[in-house]
Amino acid sequence: MTDSASSYVGRFAPSPTGPLHLGSLVAAMASYLDARAHGGQWLVRIEDVDGDRNVVGADHHILASLQRCGMQWDGEVTWQSQRTALYEAALRQLEAAGAVYPCGCSRKEIADSQLSLSGKQAQANIYPGTCRHGLAAGKTARALRLKVPQSPHCVIGFQDRWAGYVSQDLTDEVGDFVIKRADGFWAYQLAVVVDDGAQHITDIVRGADLLDSTPRQIYLQQLLGLPQPRYLHVPVVVNEVGEKLSKQTGAQAFDTGAAPEQLLREAMLPAARYLGLDVRADSLDAFWRAAVPAWRQLRHPA
Ligand code: GLU
Repeated sequence: MTDSASSYVGRFAPSPTGPLHLGSLVAAMASYLDARAHGGQWLVRIEDVDGDRNVVGADHHILASLQRCGMQWDGEVTWQSQRTALYEAALRQLEAAGAVYPCGCSRKEIADSQLSLSGKQAQANIYPGTCRHGLAAGKTARALRLKVPQSPHCVIGFQDRWAGYVSQDLTDEVGDFVIKRADGFWAYQLAVVVDDGAQHITDIVRGADLLDSTPRQIYLQQLLGLPQPRYLHVPVVVNEVGEKLSKQTGAQAFDTGAAPEQLLREAMLPAARYLGLDVRADSLDAFWRAAVPAWRQLRHPA
């Protein structure tokens, strides 16, 4: 094992909005395989900051499913709901840098203001910056937003190990984004960056639906003085009509009571095939013995 291999720290960070299904299993499997292929650690973090979307018991159901599949994590599982002091500290750091402002606009006001915008900004449905220089009279603070530089534009590019070079103009395509929501919940973008930094994550392997969140996360890393991890975004699994597979779009929940052979046939082998792995196995052990070298052979640049 080389030095760089032994310092690899990866993670799977599910939101507990329902049981594991083929789509989330693919993301879990890819991050697990990449960590094991590098001889690295694989952490699991439950991203339960969005109190409205959490489903009671889904966290333990997901953990049981990972274990049934033979994906054993390293160290203790963490829950974001227990880590709010870290997010507070990051917020104070961003505030001290003058990068945050309170916003009093409602969704409707923001939607209405789009009518006066043109071009890319209107298309992207971005915040027009109404409260950037102070709350307008009569407004009360709702959310906290991060200022995205206007001039020159804030353009963030990175090399993704699957998708190649990706670049986004945050000024034009995203705008000032929310880091603490009007309902008091921490925004995913802030919590994920703070935790990836605090847990010394070196490699993020997840679904491509998060590809366009990555530049926002890299910008936050830069402001917080955190190192930038390597990224690998795997294609998301879609249903027959092209929608991302999720509970809402008809994904079949993972049956934690299924026999190992059934899990292998109905979940593991289809997930591996989806990732482009040609693995034949008649037991879970044999599956992992074959899948780790098969993943290495895919040669996603390290
Ligand atoms: N919690 C996010 C989700 O389940 C994933 C976050 C991440 O991997 O960065 O979609």
